[in-house]
Amino acid sequence: MPRTAELEPLATRVLAPNPSPMTLDGTNTYVVGAAGSGQAVVVDPGPADAGHLAAVEAVLTTRDARLVAVLVTHHHGDHAEAAAPWGRRFGVPVAAADPAVAGPGGRVLTPGERLPLAGTTLGVVATPGHTADHLAFRLESGAVLVGDHVLGRGTSVVTHPEGDVLAYLASLRRVHDLGPSALYCGHGPELTEDPQAVLDFYLAHRAHREQQLLDLLADGPRTVGEMVAEVYAAVPREVWPAAAQSTRATLDKLVAEQRVVPQAAGVFALA
Ligand SMILES: [Zn+2]
Repeated sequence: MPRTAELEPLATRVLAPNPSPMTLDGTNTYVVGAAGSGQAVVVDPGPADAGHLAAVEAVLTTRDARLVAVLVTHHHGDHAEAAAPWGRRFGVPVAAADPAVAGPGGRVLTPGERLPLAGTTLGVVATPGHTADHLAFRLESGAVLVGDHVLGRGTSVVTHPEGDVLAYLASLRRVHDLGPSALYCGHGPELTEDPQAVLDFYLAHRAHREQQLLDLLADGPRTVGEMVAEVYAAVPREVWPAAAQSTRATLDKLVAEQRVVPQAAGVFALA
């Protein structure tokens, strides 16, 4: 992916230099503002990296825009690490759902609120699931900045113990029902062709993973590690720890629904 890409007049993507199996090409930082308005916000500053900061500052210069706030989708370091230092550097507040991320002098965001910016607004959308504090931001163009709720390639992770599969499914439906014109993801390329079909696929994928676990347990009780080795046999082992978290989160849902019961020594069985 190119380091910097203008996606539409409202939004430019700047790719951070932190690629990994979990962050794909790296974290996408977005500079958002109405063209010619002189104002912009940054969504997900990403890692505290001098080169990345310089690339974002170059976009602000090109847009002839002054930064007015740093917004954060969720507390994970690959999205939030630079929030406090950039807030101090630019003398602007950090805005996030997690008070620890917003910090002293920051702004704790409430789902449903609209953030006014010169010439445009951003809508704050609750998208818990990947983490409890996860937010998405809807642009007036209809595009939605989805953080790690949806990735540009593959699928996202419902973390454990913080994440929540039921909340995640509800969040997928919430973004689906916004009728997004595009999804600008925290990692990977933007999804511009039929975003609702992508969200439908994510919902179907979760249902598929859940059924895979139920099918395995129908053969007999298993540990999480055994289930991960069978369900994720085809994916690289470096993502198995994340797969184990999603598996644990799915088992929590099935236990809450009384379809699965935890046994001794980390073993799960059908109820
Ligand atoms: Zn991330």
